Amino acid sequence: MSNTPIKYFINPEVKVENNAVEELHRLLEVNETIETLQKHSPDYFDDPNTGVLEVAITPDFHKGSGIPVGTTLFTRGFVLPQAIGNDINCGMRLYVTDLHEEQIRTNLDAIERNVRHVFFEGGRNIPMTRHMREKMFKEGLIGILDSHKEANGEGIWRYYNEKQQELDLNHVNKMGSFIAESTIGLDDFLGPAELSRDAQIGSLGGGNHFFEIQVVKKVHQGSIASQWGLKEGQVVLMIHTGSVSIGYNSGAWIKEMLKKMYPTSLKHPDNGMYPLPLSERSLPQWKMFWSLLHNAANFAFANRLMLGLMMYKSISDVLGDFEHRLLYDAPHNYLWEEQLEQVGGFLHRKGSCTAKSAEQMMGTPFQYTGEPVFIPGSMGSHSFILAGLGNRDSLFSASHGAGRALSRGDAVKVDDDRFRDFLANFRVINPIDPKRADLRGRSDILKKWEEELKKEAPYAYKDITPVIQSHVDHGMAEIVVEVAPIATVKG
Ligand code: 5GP
Ligand code: MN
Ligand code: MN
Repeated sequence: MSNTPIKYFINPEVKVENNAVEELHRLLEVNETIETLQKHSPDYFDDPNTGVLEVAITPDFHKGSGIPVGTTLFTRGFVLPQAIGNDINCGMRLYVTDLHEEQIRTNLDAIERNVRHVFFEGGRNIPMTRHMREKMFKEGLIGILDSHKEANGEGIWRYYNEKQQELDLNHVNKMGSFIAESTIGLDDFLGPAELSRDAQIGSLGGGNHFFEIQVVKKVHQGSIASQWGLKEGQVVLMIHTGSVSIGYNSGAWIKEMLKKMYPTSLKHPDNGMYPLPLSERSLPQWKMFWSLLHNAANFAFANRLMLGLMMYKSISDVLGDFEHRLLYDAPHNYLWEEQLEQVGGFLHRKGSCTAKSAEQMMGTPFQYTGEPVFIPGSMGSHSFILAGLGNRDSLFSASHGAGRALSRGDAVKVDDDRFRDFLANFRVINPIDPKRADLRGRSDILKKWEEELKKEAPYAYKDITPVIQSHVDHGMAEIVVEVAPIATVKG
């Protein structure tokens, strides 16, 4: 068992699978692996105090593949690439609009048609030069700002407003730019051709990723809500996606690289967790990891930005121009280099948001409010917008969702009536339009579509209310507003 204590602040009403906690303990026996490595080759790690120093779990903690979802880890002298999830820089982006609920509801059929076209039926048009792509991979949103003119305002770039985008940088974690020196990693495992093709930019990805049109149902904290421009009846737009295949392939590649660098004379760790030593960053493996990580993360920021533009196009083509201000873009699968008290190290988050206090956000637009935290429920329940309180013991983190209650396999088995009931009450837009004439009689395709959707149905997720309450009761974040879905787009 790992001897690093796991801190958590979860109300008793939230059911946490015990074996998920046990599983985390087992996977965190990395300190033992580090000791073995230090004995075997004393200079494997530069820092004699290398190790996992702290672990905290969020109220939506649950099993995932590898390290459970909702884990925050502080390490010194090494990083654990497997503790940031497969989807590097998966995150949430939220826009506040000046639209009222009724404007969306009365035009929903036309909006649905546009969304289908732009998102799924070939209407996605994001021309980029090779140079633009390179800038995007290396510099994220700043790279895009510097090079967007090369696209001559074609396709989706028509909706890209330079002035607005420059202001928006302050509304993205780390300005949406994890600067990388190169694209050596991408070149190595994907080949330079990757820079010449579109690499799925503007894709939601499948599963629990979504774009949702939501309405503010209840204001809980009036002063912050008004600073963020939020009021009842108002429409907000929430995007949840990451680095799709770039991140996934990078993650798999990094894992292989870690295995290969492990000393051949030693037995590999039973728990399959491989530490990557910091080694003053001179190791070629470190350089490779650092570059791939940043390239994938920058791609994810760019992906969420493009989805934001696609969403604006889909709605404004029906309703005309409308105001849409970016509130925040927040990664929940990533690695941050931080100082905790006097100790420098790495905060890893897998399915966990950063939730800093107003004081910690000094010098940003959130210095009087705290960092925005988005906690979606499911496609059939309320979601929440909160403000971080910078809880030290939770490693300045908060949940990033309600957390699964049923595994995907079990969710598919839930009886049909519950599923029909859900479909009758909520608007879900996805690549398969069940009303399409050419799909009549294609029960194979429709069945597959239903199965995918069933895995993400509201009953597959925990009740969001006690998850949110845990944040309030333990001083992790305060509730600003509560929103309800009007329509959900699933990839
Ligand atoms: P993850 O990042 O682990 O993939 O999931 C994030 C969270 O999003 C889930 O825990 C769940 O609570 C929430 N979620 C999944 N699908 C939807 C959806 O379609 N709409 C909303 N509002 N939330 C969702
Ligand atoms: Mn995610
Ligand atoms: Mn993801």
